[in-house]
Amino acid sequence: MNYYNEILETKQVIDNSEYIVFFGGAGTSTESGISDFRGDRGLYQKTYKGYNPEEILSLKFVLKNPQIFYDFINEKLCCENAKPNAGHKYLVELENTGKLKAIITQNIDGLHQKAGSKNVIELHGNLREFYCMKCGREKDRFFDCECGGIVRPNIVLYGEPLDVDIVNRSISEVKKADCLIVSGTSLTVYPANSLLEYFDGKYFIIINTSPTQYDSMANIIIRKPFAETARLLTS
Ligand SMILES: [Zn+2]
Repeated sequence: MNYYNEILETKQVIDNSEYIVFFGGAGTSTESGISDFRGDRGLYQKTYKGYNPEEILSLKFVLKNPQIFYDFINEKLCCENAKPNAGHKYLVELENTGKLKAIITQNIDGLHQKAGSKNVIELHGNLREFYCMKCGREKDRFFDCECGGIVRPNIVLYGEPLDVDIVNRSISEVKKADCLIVSGTSLTVYPANSLLEYFDGKYFIIINTSPTQYDSMANIIIRKPFAETARLLTS
């Protein structure tokens, strides 16, 4: 399917909307070469140095095997060389028109900011801030702390709660939206699924390669990767 009609409809919806909120997951960064976690070729399909990635990304593991955690972060999740794709760039343009008010992302790669987006809410933290868990020293990259404490990135690890302020900011944006675009996420994980309950706007658009449990709520569904869809929306 080429989704020609859906693309046209989406363009019209965007023209008619005044408060667009974008909610994105790993799928928005796949074209930038960042591994998806749960996809068919995602990170979770393989073990790393004998451990499964979900285990590595837990506080318990960081405390026990910091070196393997760092190596994993550096090799698999760090994004210094990753470049924003057509999807990220499209959202920058949309923000510049004044229609897109917020991007809520589950990604920690910082690619929206790298592309130039301003109002980005990072549900799971980021890899721009690192701090020592013992003395609290902070840097914009990984470092060995003089105090000998364990240094970790400012990301939400498995088993850790999300930042309440960040969740509340996300809820408030979703509540205000007249158009919500969700992309690159299967919407199965908290808080993605619960955020949708706050949406009370007119248009709900899903751009995702696989079905989600919220498809029946959507006004428009486009089964394509986000970057590819973005190129069609810009052309
Ligand atoms: Zn320290």
